[in-house]
Amino acid sequence: MAFRAPPPSAEDRQSQRPRAGLCADCRHFQLLRSKISLFVRCGLSDHDSKFNRYPPLPVTFCPGFIRNSGDESHSDDPQTPAPAGR
Ligand code: SF4
Repeated sequence: MAFRAPPPSAEDRQSQRPRAGLCADCRHFQLLRSKISLFVRCGLSDHDSKFNRYPPLPVTFCPGFIRNSGDESHSDDPQTPAPAGR
């Protein structure tokens, strides 16, 4: 089963852009919070072992990059159908 992190907000993406590079604008980007740290996680790694779960940052090139559409209702899980009406 794929890990589920809450979708990053637009503010999260903007604040992480200098550190995360491409990941901050990718639909596979996940942001995990601990009490003292933030971790950039790649959701694509759940389905494709070629991708690091925690990629070295900043990412400047990535063959898995898909620009985030701003619609956070999508799923990184290819087994999960898109919501009705799409
Ligand atoms: S697919 Fe690439 S750019 Fe997108 S989150 Fe994963 S490592 Fe970052």
